[in-house]
Amino acid sequence: MKKRLFTPGPTPVPENVMLRMAAPIIHHRNPEFMEILERVHENLKYLFRTTQPVVVMTCSGTGGMEAAISSLFRQGDKLITINGGKFGERWSELARIYTGNCVEEKIEWGTAISPERIAELLDEHPDAMGVCITHSETSTGTASDVRALCAAIRERSEALILVDGITAIGAHEFHFDDWGADICITGSQKGLMMPPGLALVAVSERAQEIIHNRKHQPQYYLSLRKALKSHAGNDTPFTPAVSLIIGLDEALQMLRAEGIENVWARHEALAGACRLGCQALGMELFSESPSYAVTAVWLPEGADWKEFNTTLKIKNGITVAAGQDDFKGRIFRISHLGYYDELDMLTLMGGLERSLKMMEIPFRVGAGVSAVQRAFLGE
Ligand SMILES: *Cc1c(COP(=O)(O)O)cnc(C)c1O
Repeated sequence: MKKRLFTPGPTPVPENVMLRMAAPIIHHRNPEFMEILERVHENLKYLFRTTQPVVVMTCSGTGGMEAAISSLFRQGDKLITINGGKFGERWSELARIYTGNCVEEKIEWGTAISPERIAELLDEHPDAMGVCITHSETSTGTASDVRALCAAIRERSEALILVDGITAIGAHEFHFDDWGADICITGSQKGLMMPPGLALVAVSERAQEIIHNRKHQPQYYLSLRKALKSHAGNDTPFTPAVSLIIGLDEALQMLRAEGIENVWARHEALAGACRLGCQALGMELFSESPSYAVTAVWLPEGADWKEFNTTLKIKNGITVAAGQDDFKGRIFRISHLGYYDELDMLTLMGGLERSLKMMEIPFRVGAGVSAVQRAFLGE
C-alpha cells in the first residue's frame, strides 16, 4: 500500500526536489550557494508578483508572521486582525504580544471578511497602523478576496497590510505589488512543494522604509531588518537551511516552468473537482467561500472521526487533516495544495469511497470518482 499525503502542510515533495536536497552539503558563504540564493530570490519575486525583496528565513511560516509583526510595530501600535479561524487567531496573538493593542474582528468560521466590513473597521479605528488578514484560512478552507480587501484598506488608510499567504501563494491569484500589500508570507511546506523549515516574506517599499528607521526593535533572530540587509547581497544573516534552499531552487524552477497563471488555474480546477466529488458522495462543504488550497468537508452523517481517519489512513494509505478547535471530529480537510494533479484527485476520491464502504456509510459507489472525472473531462 502506498502512503498518500493530502494535508495542507506538509504537502508532497516531488522526486527531483528530494534528489537535489540529497546532494552533499555545501558551505553557505561560497559563490556556488550565493548563485543559488540569487536565483531563488528572483523566482520568489516571480511567484509573489513583486519587484520587492522576498526574504528567505529559516523557520516555519509562523516565524515569518512573527518577524513581520515584531519588525514593523512597537508596543502601543494599534493593529486590526481578522479572526475567522486558527490562523487569523495567530495574527491576534502575535499582535497582542508585540503591541498590546489589538482590535480583533471575530468572524464565523467558514466565512470571509467583506471589504465593506474592513472599511467600517478602519473608519472606527483611523489610528490603526496595520491590518492583518489571512488569504486562505487553512483551518476552515476559506479564501478571502484579498484584492478587494487591499483596495478597501488603501482607499481610506495608511495602515500597513499584512497578508498571511501561507496556503494561498501558489494556489490563489495574488499580486503583491499591484494589490498594494506590504507583507506577504508563505512557508516552504505548503504550495512550494517542499518539506517544512522555511518562511518566505515579501516586504513592500513602505514597509522597508519603516524597518530601516526602526533600529532598536526588541528582537534578534526574526529581524526583517537583518534579513533585508543580507538579502541585498544574496546572503543570509545566520546559517540558512542550505539543503532546503537548494530544494526550493528546484521547486521554484518547476513552478516557473509551469507558469504562475497555470499553477493558479490547476489549483482552481483541482479544488472545484474535489468539491463536486465530495458533494456527489452526499457530504456537505464547510466553507461559504472555498479555498483553492484546501477543501473542508463536514463528516458524513453518522461517521465517527477516529474511525473515519483510521480507515482512510491505515486501510487506504490516505492522510487528510482533522478539524480544529470546535470543529474537531466534525469536519475534515483535504489538501490539493502544491504537488498534485488530476489523477491525484481521482485517487483521493477512490480512497474516500473505499473508506465509506468499509465503514458501511451509505453512498452510491463511483459517484465521487465519476463527478471528479466528469469535472476534468468537461462532461
Ligand atoms: C500552515 C499555516 C500557518 C503556520 O505555518 P507553520 O509553518 O506551521 O508555522 C500559518 N497560516 C496559515 C494560513 C497556514 O496554513
